[in-house]
Amino acid sequence: MAAIRQKIVWDIVVIGGGATGLGIAVDAAKRGYKVLLLEKNDFAKGTSSRSTKLVHGGVRYLAQGNLKLVIEALRERGFLLKNAPHLTRVQDFIIPAYSYWQKWYYGIGLSIYDLLSNKLSLGRPAILSKKSTQLLMPSILQKKLRGGISYKDGQFDDSRLAISLALTAHDYGATLINYCGVVGLIKKDDKVSGVIAVDDITEEKFEIYSKSVINATGVFVDQVLAMDDPSSPHMVMPSQGVHLVVDKKFFPGSSALMIPKTSDGRVLFALPWHDQVVIGTTDTPLNLISEEPIALEEEIKFILSNFNQYNELKICRDDILSVFAGLRPLVKTSNTSSTALASRDHTIIVSKSNLITITGGKWTTYRKMAKDAVSNAAFVANLPLVKCSTRHLRLHGYTEEMKYGEMLSVYGTDSIHIKELIKENNELGDVVHPDFPYLKAEIVWAVRNEMAINVEDFLARRTRMLFLNARAAIESVNVVADMMAAEMQKDENWKAEQVADFTEIAQEYLSKH
Ligand SMILES: Cc1cc2nc3c(=O)[nH]c(=O)nc-3n(C[C@H](O)[C@H](O)[C@H](O)COP(=O)(O)OP(=O)(O)OC[C@H]3O[C@@H](n4cnc5c(N)ncnc54)[C@H](O)[C@@H]3O)c2cc1C
Repeated sequence: MAAIRQKIVWDIVVIGGGATGLGIAVDAAKRGYKVLLLEKNDFAKGTSSRSTKLVHGGVRYLAQGNLKLVIEALRERGFLLKNAPHLTRVQDFIIPAYSYWQKWYYGIGLSIYDLLSNKLSLGRPAILSKKSTQLLMPSILQKKLRGGISYKDGQFDDSRLAISLALTAHDYGATLINYCGVVGLIKKDDKVSGVIAVDDITEEKFEIYSKSVINATGVFVDQVLAMDDPSSPHMVMPSQGVHLVVDKKFFPGSSALMIPKTSDGRVLFALPWHDQVVIGTTDTPLNLISEEPIALEEEIKFILSNFNQYNELKICRDDILSVFAGLRPLVKTSNTSSTALASRDHTIIVSKSNLITITGGKWTTYRKMAKDAVSNAAFVANLPLVKCSTRHLRLHGYTEEMKYGEMLSVYGTDSIHIKELIKENNELGDVVHPDFPYLKAEIVWAVRNEMAINVEDFLARRTRMLFLNARAAIESVNVVADMMAAEMQKDENWKAEQVADFTEIAQEYLSKH
């Protein structure tokens, strides 16, 4: 906040702190530009904490013939797995085959998928016998099972990667502020020369000047485009995707299931994540854009019925531990009516006012998106030309000594500091909730070092309890509110408000009938 009070002229102001905006902040700071990122909620509060958690080329896009997107995403998959080993891992997937032709059809398709990854291959796909498929996926539907095809893709923790990107950008000199939204643009001679932002906590208003402004607000890009020109045509066609989380006992084993054709012709995944199983997703065109999208009844039923068709252990509404929904920022094109067929490529537009807008794409391709956006900004604003150098940039916390999934691994090298907090005060070594490995020390760390401002930031994005088990998250709210209040010198009113606000949000993650 002190930095934006100084009235300096920034090289680049980024609006939006999801995968795209944070990637841009890293890229711009690494090139040496003076960069400020403003996020109106918490980092990754939008789509970027609600993904399927795959670092992938997109087998589905291969079937659609979008080779360019698949090759680009496979390259980025390879870079991300190397640059953030503490937040990503290689995951085995299996497509079960119920006829012999399926085995060969998917086997050939996945061999092409692997060939396209070239030197960044994660390992060749394999045709599995019926016995091996049963061994690797013990609960898979046995009737008429002929075997399976196994292949490899990446798996990650989306909001933790977002925090690591924020910290990386900060390491290279960027300024990032959450809970500070952009409400207007400043113009000089019809060109954008800055933004007006409001601090959500103090309601203080700021005029911020910049040589270039990048709109990286995901499904909200049209709102910022309208600040520039109220008659701007809409760019985004939002599509909702829902996931259900269930106990690992319903889908044991370490492989993930890929159902290649659901009843609506899409793919569905069931994958192990933080000791539970995430199942999804859907593709539902929506007209309403909301910060807290809500799963539709028919989306929940769709996932339950498609998963149950392939699994011996049937799941029902009462087995769901958490439901979460996210909005895809799909870019409108004149010839697409179905969101399932809409392109997952990213799009950049430079408005007459020089406002740069970037949306679409995937988490996996955030680095390439950032590179393209920053290069455009540098050109438009006449900044000294510096090449992008993020391809091999190790992200904050980088370590090969901890495996993603181990206790505190998502913090990487920062885990040492969390352990030091526990040495100073043993009580911080206690868990926040008996069913989860999250420690009280993580609350202190999140407030002091990761800009967690409220209870939801901690339970939803610094740790993933809300996404993994909404009831456990509600049970933890008092402990987290108490500790955050002590750390931030907040009073009883603040605590009561936090408990009420979080409990209300978490209701939507419980699977209600
Ligand atoms: C269901 C689903 C599953 C997916 N699964 C995968 C997957 O497995 N792998 C993969 O690679 N990709 C996946 N994706 C795609 C990926 O999640 C998105 O492409 C990516 O997260 C988009 O990031 P973003 O930064 O563009 O948008 P967002 O994450 O939505 O970020 C935009 C941010 O802008 C902020 N904002 C809005 N207006 C303002 C303002 N006026 N001022 C300041 N800030 C503002 C918002 O609060 C928000 O935080 C999935 C998407 C969905 C919906």
